[in-house]
Amino acid sequence: MPDPVANYLRLGDVDVAGKRVMMRLDLNVPVEGGRVTSDVRIREALPGIRQALHGGAAVMLLSHLGRPTEGQFDESASLRPVAARVQELLGREVRFEKVWLDGIDIEPGEIVLCENVRFNKGEKANDDGLARQMAELCDIFVMDAFGTAHRAQASTEGLARFAPVACAGPLLDRELTVLGKALAQPERPMLAIVGGAKVSTKLSVLDSLIEKVDELIVGGGIANTLIAAAGYEVGRSLFEPDLINEAQGLIRKAHERGGSIPIPADVVVAREFSATAKPAVRSIDEIAPDEMILDIGPLTASSYSSIIAGAATIIWNGPVGVFEFEAFAAGTRSVAEAVARSSAFSIAGGGDTLAAIEKFDVSEDIDYVSTGGGAFLELVEGKELPAVVALEAAARKA
Ligand code: ADP
Ligand code: MG
Repeated sequence: MPDPVANYLRLGDVDVAGKRVMMRLDLNVPVEGGRVTSDVRIREALPGIRQALHGGAAVMLLSHLGRPTEGQFDESASLRPVAARVQELLGREVRFEKVWLDGIDIEPGEIVLCENVRFNKGEKANDDGLARQMAELCDIFVMDAFGTAHRAQASTEGLARFAPVACAGPLLDRELTVLGKALAQPERPMLAIVGGAKVSTKLSVLDSLIEKVDELIVGGGIANTLIAAAGYEVGRSLFEPDLINEAQGLIRKAHERGGSIPIPADVVVAREFSATAKPAVRSIDEIAPDEMILDIGPLTASSYSSIIAGAATIIWNGPVGVFEFEAFAAGTRSVAEAVARSSAFSIAGGGDTLAAIEKFDVSEDIDYVSTGGGAFLELVEGKELPAVVALEAAARKA
């Protein structure tokens, strides 16, 4: 574990009075029908915003939302509903800027939320031209998006390289400090629970994660890929056919280390992906080609609960089913409750994981709730996060 403490500037180290401060936040929250349905991430970002305002800055907020196609406006990925919620929570005006790359009119004491950075061409590829263009809009860049610190993109790593001054916001700083300490010497056995939908990114994390943890349990698209890798039919489930080999390698690796990755014994399936889909419990060898696995089954949930009960440290990222739909929420609820009941030191992270923890009302009983999913897993792996590396380089130049 690299010591992440204090190799970068913090917002508190910088005089922001009268300055144009651009803050990269992670306001990637679920939005349905133009309304924010879980504002945990917004609330986590407020201390940084308040600190900059209090210091007398002109505050420009950046974030991504979802995964829209670059260069194309897409209403469903617009941050406009998020601006409304930030304004509500802050209790002061937050102006929404749909078009902002060419310049923003702003005075100290004002707050502007810029439209989704992922609408800009070159964001994902970390294009230097785009990062420079954003850097020109500000005097100080504050990176406070822990959830995207593991991605080298124009508004994260790129901006940190090109901005006149670059520092870490309070949320990023807290996450790095607390997680760094918690993961330095974890109590054993250490269990990781990995689920969710981002199969390809998470599967590659698992490859090194498996060397750090004593046990691993899976759900969601990761589990489906492992189920397919074990030779079972997964029908129309979310999984990565291209990663079957990698998944088989993972299963082998776990065996070589004297452990195993238990594959769900039973699952909940449906013929369509919807809130009204009719659920059916199936043994793992009974899945029909036109079915989708949308949750772990009751037997699996109970065996996961006993594994969870035996752990001394728990790392959880990713819901084990489509918990947003009541018929497929039981698996994730059971995992959430087992984690909450356990006496282990528990850390959970990830946007949707946070939403699940909120929904099942267990946040009080989880020791540390991180806003990062992928970033959090990469820290557990012991990796350095690219945006943090850029902040450290900026601090050495300062
Ligand atoms: P996090 O944000 O916590 O890192 P992800 O973004 O990777 O997690 O995935 C969360 C999403 O995964 C949830 O919206 C959930 O509905 C979905 N999901 C979980 N299990 C399945 C499944 N079996 N099939 C399809 N989607 C799933
Ligand atoms: Mg997510």
